[in-house]
Amino acid sequence: MKPVIIRKANFDQIVTQAEREFPFECCGFIIGGEAVRGGGADDTVEEVRPIANIQNLKHAEDPIAFARDARTAFLMEPREHLAVMNEIDRRRLNLSAVYHSHPDHDAYFSATDRAQACSFDPGEPDYPDTVYIVISVRAGKFARAAAFRWDPAIRDFAEAELETC
Ligand SMILES: [Zn+2]
Repeated sequence: MKPVIIRKANFDQIVTQAEREFPFECCGFIIGGEAVRGGGADDTVEEVRPIANIQNLKHAEDPIAFARDARTAFLMEPREHLAVMNEIDRRRLNLSAVYHSHPDHDAYFSATDRAQACSFDPGEPDYPDTVYIVISVRAGKFARAAAFRWDPAIRDFAEAELETC
């Protein structure tokens, strides 16, 4: 499987966010210009878009519907989420990666993570070309990061090597 390569500065930014938001999960996107959407995409672009995790807010409002708090779940602030979608449309970029952290848990792709990534159809990811990055933070310090790509052969996500450049 093709390795996932992200810029060191972007990786460091995500790790810093994950440590800062500990003991809660952080979340966000990497947007970029790999030209899979056809001409016009600028392949020099790779930018991080942190998104606020509103899981604690929702949990406080409705602890039945939102049983988990932000220590074990994330919910992206919808306006920030939409702003990124609009930005990638406007700039003809791609949703390169979705990232979130696992405070005091390993960097694995959980059943919940898979369900969120396949929100319309459990057998098909919403964004088949988007990579998912999970960052394990233990006691407030970065422990490990892992990247997952959709593998059509097994119809599931599989871990891919994560490199920085
Ligand atoms: Zn997760």
